[in-house]
Amino acid sequence: MTRSDTDIQILLVDDRPENLLALEAILSPLGHTLVRAGSGREALKALLDHDFAVILLDVQLPGMDGYETAALIRSRERSQSTPILFLTAVNTSQHHVFRGYEVGAVDYLLKPIEPAILLSKVSVFVDLYRKALQIRQQAAQLARTIRELEREIEQRQLTEDALQEAQSELERRVRVRTADLSAANEALRREIEVRERAEQELSAALLREQAARERAEKAVRTRDDFLAVASHELKTPLTAIYGNVEILHRRLTADEETSGRNRRSLQVVLHQVLRLSRMVEMLLDSSRIQNGLLTIEIAPFDLAKMTRRVVLEVEPMLERHQINLVIAEEDLITRGDELRMEQVLYNLVNNAIKYSPNGGTVTVRAERRDGAVTVAVADQGIGIPEHDLPHIFERFYRAESAEVSQIAGMGIGLYVVQQVVVLHGGRIEVSSASWEGSTFTITLPAEALAPPALQEEALGQAQPATPVKVDRV
Ligand code: ADP
Repeated sequence: MTRSDTDIQILLVDDRPENLLALEAILSPLGHTLVRAGSGREALKALLDHDFAVILLDVQLPGMDGYETAALIRSRERSQSTPILFLTAVNTSQHHVFRGYEVGAVDYLLKPIEPAILLSKVSVFVDLYRKALQIRQQAAQLARTIRELEREIEQRQLTEDALQEAQSELERRVRVRTADLSAANEALRREIEVRERAEQELSAALLREQAARERAEKAVRTRDDFLAVASHELKTPLTAIYGNVEILHRRLTADEETSGRNRRSLQVVLHQVLRLSRMVEMLLDSSRIQNGLLTIEIAPFDLAKMTRRVVLEVEPMLERHQINLVIAEEDLITRGDELRMEQVLYNLVNNAIKYSPNGGTVTVRAERRDGAVTVAVADQGIGIPEHDLPHIFERFYRAESAEVSQIAGMGIGLYVVQQVVVLHGGRIEVSSASWEGSTFTITLPAEALAPPALQEEALGQAQPATPVKVDRV
């Protein structure tokens, strides 16, 4: 900031007003503010409130002279470097001049004052003052700038500290997170190890299981092969034995001389050979089913007639059981392999008797139901536990109970029965509970358009109205 000319003040000290006037007249063209002082005291007073670019000081002042005044001006801090121009008479001695310099004068002007010299000197001091002012202002500005810079540095330091702190916090978190991650990683690695071990154990167990299964399958194949061969080999001699025993039975029965004991023995032999033949036949059927070779010969037949035949055949052999035959009035014509269905029904009746060790009644019921024909065999025997029910039609399955283990059986009868029924397009169902008896029901499609001849035949042999009880012979 530059100061205007009027801001610059010049102190004029002289006890003579005319001198002051003269000075003012010379200096006024400079345009500065000229302050008058009529004595050293007044000059000092003016210096209390103002800064001057230069002081024009008359040496010969009354009271406090110019030297004393100059000395006091210099002693004050505010004015100690304000330039003082002594105004003195031409005849001033060297001694006075030195004294003046000693107390702080910077120059002397001799009276009478030469205006040009005064102007020139004052201008130099004003210039110096201006420059000093400017330097002070620049210094102040510099100090402000420094302060601002310091503040900025401080601010930056604070920011840097905050950043540093944030960075440390971040690093701490990263360390914690890294530790967490490596712990998790370690846990994962252990888990993977455990799993790998478990997988190895599992695959070893799978291999063992596979080997065991292969062995079991091989054993099953060997068994099946053996059963197929054995039953096949047994069938021929058995057929021959059965045929001959039957002839013998017929012959000896006709012979009146045959004793009752012999007849009964022959009857037992015949019955057991028949049983054996059926078992072998069953084994052969099982093998045939396994190999997809079981065939049936389809033809219309009367289920009611067939049922009656089976019951009549079984009935004479019963000792501790009763058998009830319940047959619908109408004929029950269906299509299928009559001999195989007979074998099926025989099996069910035989089981009903076999699994009723305490005796009781076996009821065989043949009827028409919902457009189909059914034959059901119900007993009052040991029944079948619920958990065995889903399995009893599986090959070689036998219920796991003490009662069953005491009853002879191979576990293939129901398997063959179900397969034959399914081949006929029918189904077999069982309802049973332990010690509440069992009921096996076979359902076959009814033959809608049976040939008239067969219908006649079926009708011709129709039995009395149901229920029919066939008494023991
Ligand atoms: P087997 O009688 O030769 O054992 P089956 O295939 O005929 O074989 O029967 C399979 C199993 O079903 C039998 O072992 C027995 O546990 C059970 N079972 C079959 N019929 C009856 C029934 N009427 N009463 C109780 N359990 C039966």
